[in-house]
Amino acid sequence: MFANLSPMRFFQLLPNTTKLFIYPWPIIKKAHAQGYLTADIPEAYGGLGIDMISNCIISEEMAYGCSGIATAVMANDLALTPLILCANDDIKKRFLGRMVENPFVASYAVTEPGAGSDVAGIKTKCEKKGDEYIINGSKMWITNAGHANWFFVLARSDPNPKTPSGKAFTAFVVEGDSPGLTRGRKEIYMEQRCSDTRGLTFEDVRVPAANVVGAPGEGFKVAMKTFDKTRPTVAALAAGVAYRCLGVAIKEAEVHENMQTKVNDLSHQLRKVQQENSLLKTARGNADRILHDNFASANQTTSPAPMRESSDPEKQKLRHWLTRTSI
Ligand SMILES: Cc1cc2nc3c(=O)[nH]c(=O)nc-3n(C[C@H](O)[C@H](O)[C@H](O)COP(=O)(O)OP(=O)(O)OC[C@H]3O[C@@H](n4cnc5c(N)ncnc54)[C@H](O)[C@@H]3O)c2cc1C
Repeated sequence: MFANLSPMRFFQLLPNTTKLFIYPWPIIKKAHAQGYLTADIPEAYGGLGIDMISNCIISEEMAYGCSGIATAVMANDLALTPLILCANDDIKKRFLGRMVENPFVASYAVTEPGAGSDVAGIKTKCEKKGDEYIINGSKMWITNAGHANWFFVLARSDPNPKTPSGKAFTAFVVEGDSPGLTRGRKEIYMEQRCSDTRGLTFEDVRVPAANVVGAPGEGFKVAMKTFDKTRPTVAALAAGVAYRCLGVAIKEAEVHENMQTKVNDLSHQLRKVQQENSLLKTARGNADRILHDNFASANQTTSPAPMRESSDPEKQKLRHWLTRTSI
């Protein structure tokens, strides 16, 4: 798919970041300076407004370098997406603008201890009082939660269980320093260790009604539209990891070949490489299919859209790289 190495591969330079569970702030700041962190934000709000194919290229290349760093960056994009798709102009200016101006990260807080795939099963609730909503409940597995400047949060606004999902939930932007919002401990998992995933608790957290994303009661639709747009980049991330596995496997096999030893071991490893290659094709096939399903029907372009020239040299570099990459 790509003939050239990308500048994203500089992520490999800091392998200890992942081993030591350290959040990769130096790389996040560099990614922000080069426009990767806000590339999806429309130009009207200060971003690059890149198309979906370019977004997938970035995702795949970043995951090739380090899936933990890719998760941290992609989770930030997951939080920006509902605002890009559904928020009003005021929210976009306040929260997307802030992300363009500062090397901040945000979180998408939907999953709960008792509800993952079944988003309609979430129990966090919100109640409108005057010009504010009061949120109570908890979230789980929220990436970037320890560092987020703000959170996209989905809560149930209609307690009646018979109300259809499309009318029962409301989505918000919640400031990271809101009183009553507590960030849990960092989860320790086997891989992707430098990304930061935590639980959150909301105890009478007050959020201005002006921070509602989309229409009140329509938060479930906001969350689903967000998943529709972000699935292709997650699939591309998996393809990047598969490519890296293949590269490592080939390198290993070559070492054995050069030493002219362990011939049986070498053929065994090559068989593994073959397997990886078919996995890789499946991963890319999935990314292409999801891209087609979600965007071709919605009349969106599937070829890289031309980006306008930016005066920022770092953004020019990104633009140059994206436009020269062959797919
Ligand atoms: C590292 C990490 C980071 C994350 N970051 C975020 C984040 O930033 N924000 C956020 O909101 N969430 C986040 N999540 C949560 C993630 O979105 C959930 O893990 C996911 O939605 C699955 O939910 P679950 O873990 O409860 O699994 P479950 O929903 O319990 O699913 C378990 C298994 O059952 C299968 N299954 C579920 N329902 C059905 C069905 N109806 N039919 C057939 N099979 C089914 C699933 O495919 C899966 O294999 C993160 C999770 C991880 C591990």
